[in-house]
Amino acid sequence: MRFSIAIFFCFLFQMHGIAQDSMPVKPVVCYLSEQNAFTEIPAQAFISNSSRLTFTSNIEVTYIDFPEQAKIPFEYAVAIWEKYLISTQTIRIKATWSKTMSSTVLAETGATRIYRSSANITNLPYTNVWYPTPLAEALAGKDLNSGDYEINVTVNGAINWYYGTDAKAQSGKYDMVTVLLHEIAHGLGFSSSMSVSDTQGSYGQSGSAYIFDIFMQDSKKVKLTNTGVYGNPSVDLKTSLISNALYFGLKNPTFANTLPRLYAPSPYKSGSSFSHFDESSYPVGSANSLMSPSVRTAEVNHTPGDILLNCLNEMGWQINGLNGYVVTGVETIPEQLFDVLVFPNPVETILNVAFPLQSQPRAIRIELFDSVGKILQSIEKQDVTVETFTIDVNALNEGIYFLRVLDGQKTSVKKLVK
Ligand SMILES: [Zn+2]
Repeated sequence: MRFSIAIFFCFLFQMHGIAQDSMPVKPVVCYLSEQNAFTEIPAQAFISNSSRLTFTSNIEVTYIDFPEQAKIPFEYAVAIWEKYLISTQTIRIKATWSKTMSSTVLAETGATRIYRSSANITNLPYTNVWYPTPLAEALAGKDLNSGDYEINVTVNGAINWYYGTDAKAQSGKYDMVTVLLHEIAHGLGFSSSMSVSDTQGSYGQSGSAYIFDIFMQDSKKVKLTNTGVYGNPSVDLKTSLISNALYFGLKNPTFANTLPRLYAPSPYKSGSSFSHFDESSYPVGSANSLMSPSVRTAEVNHTPGDILLNCLNEMGWQINGLNGYVVTGVETIPEQLFDVLVFPNPVETILNVAFPLQSQPRAIRIELFDSVGKILQSIEKQDVTVETFTIDVNALNEGIYFLRVLDGQKTSVKKLVK
């Protein structure tokens, strides 16, 4: 292989505050399906009523490069969520209009960060569990990131969008309200950290699962985070993660015999698996179809659906009309092993390498190998206190690579697809 090593490895640093109980997060990728659905599910009556009195939360959007006409459906989708969610904490969304996304992707969304219990954040129901920024703030009842954004949404600006808010299906066009309702749900926490490699399944960051992860169950109703049954990482975990039989273990007995089925295809689909509902269980036009893995042209759904609302509720969100089966005491989830987060993967241009936060500076070494084990580049840094490295891999040829990350005494190897 021919490489110009000096060029492709451009090392940039992003500074964040140093704290042990907060980390960056990997976004969820949402795909399109070029198949007209011609289904129309309008917003519920109490939602489409424009009375300001019915708003029980506040979401503010900052638009980056957004055309004016695309802001209308965004504000409409935001207004719908503001009427379902109950929170005293403003949710700030950074909405970016991108012209460089893959043509198969509608949007990518994630909470800006994740938080877990600490001296500063004492009232999260589960300890040793990561909560996305907006939910952590809602539960803590205070701002945790000094007014920074809670959710990042990146919308593919090269898509044939329908900007209307009238819930009318348009042939060949993607209904932006539908897609944004879906995206905001990811940002609220409908997002798993589970992933699958060639040999194993794994989850978590810096020793903790995401709040979403701890609800994930196999067909025998065994939690995937039950470390007495499933190792992390393990082959067994991989088997269940691609079993097509994965469920969100709601406690609400109404759903005991019909637990929400999650998207768990084989092969695993990076960025999309697990953070969606199973398409065949919730087909287009059905009440709970909003969180299916891909949105079709002429598919209109302006309602979150009971199942999504119950999932968010049990994860900790207060939702209008739901009494909740939330954890009221404090449940402790055991800590997991060290891990490094590398995303997106497959990567096109910029690779993010996120480390577990540590209060003390430490030495970090990153080595990039090709598929036959030849070291292409190694980078060593002493006294590192940043938590995310951004690496430009644009000049790499397409193929399989391996990234070995040594953080202090710990080593992690990640397969990378370019
Ligand atoms: Zn999605």
